[in-house]
Amino acid sequence: MRGVIMYAPGDVRVEDREMPAIVEPTDAILKLSATCICGSDLWPYRGAERVDHTPMGHEYVGIVHEIGSDVKNVQVGDFVVGSFFASDNTCEICLAGYQTHCVHRQPGAATGAQSEYVRVPLADGTLVATPGQPDPDLIPSLLAASDVLGTGWFAAVAAEVGPGKTVAVVGDGAVGLLGILAAKQLGAERIIAMSRHADRQALARRFGANDIVEERGAECVARIKELTDGLGAHSTIEAVGTQEAMDQALRATRAGGHVGFVGVSHGVEIEGRQLFFSGVHLHGGPAPVRRFLPELIDLIWRREIDPGVVFDLVLPLEEAAEGYRAMDERRATKVLLTV
Ligand SMILES: [Zn+2]
Repeated sequence: MRGVIMYAPGDVRVEDREMPAIVEPTDAILKLSATCICGSDLWPYRGAERVDHTPMGHEYVGIVHEIGSDVKNVQVGDFVVGSFFASDNTCEICLAGYQTHCVHRQPGAATGAQSEYVRVPLADGTLVATPGQPDPDLIPSLLAASDVLGTGWFAAVAAEVGPGKTVAVVGDGAVGLLGILAAKQLGAERIIAMSRHADRQALARRFGANDIVEERGAECVARIKELTDGLGAHSTIEAVGTQEAMDQALRATRAGGHVGFVGVSHGVEIEGRQLFFSGVHLHGGPAPVRRFLPELIDLIWRREIDPGVVFDLVLPLEEAAEGYRAMDERRATKVLLTV
């Protein structure tokens, strides 16, 4: 089978790889229908995380090809959605809705999802089958549920988005944009998106943003205060993971408000006194996508939401290297790879 290997920063290759096989009786092997490149794949691509001949990819949808002897919840032939961490979905942490912190958690796409087949551990707790075989046009949205939609959704939930709330969204990548979609679905009264890119602003508005703020840093915070009677947002989604983004999120949120942070933190430091006097709730981390999958699949299946439109470039798996370049150079927001 073919699959993506990142040899070193900036060096992505598609190669012949060994076909994954069942290792544990709780494993499943999927034949992937589509996969994609994550914003977080850009960290190693740009040399900000260590990478050495690493199989890539953790977002996946596809058809169950083979199951281990203990797997009961999915069958060969089912179309399934999983996420980036495998979880048993039975431990106390999972039952509380924090599957990404499962006591048995491990990588969800054990052999790398940017490939034709993948091994998924703890299949019963990790995979969710769709009601039937999806129409092809639903596949991008189901794939989005596997990470970026689930992550944006968790950010909105962590930020306590709801009716009557004004929501600010830091970050106009796929997660930030789908955080806007989530905020709208969760009943936010007003959504303020921060973006400087015309195409992303258009998508933000399509997903439900009412206002766009183009300023950065202190000017951005001032603009959000101006839009909220000087108080700041009730709920802020931080979907970047840099110091600047976290500072903006904290300062744009009113006392008593909530920040949901899901950008993978890189070098972010929060000054204790600033946090102490902010009166802001902070919650986030790796999104427990599994908690939301049944609900998200249902919304997509009934065509209530169309998160798949965040994919603005579709390439065959063989052209993955071009996909990485396009995202790195911000020529694409999110790249779908057809398998
Ligand atoms: Zn668990």
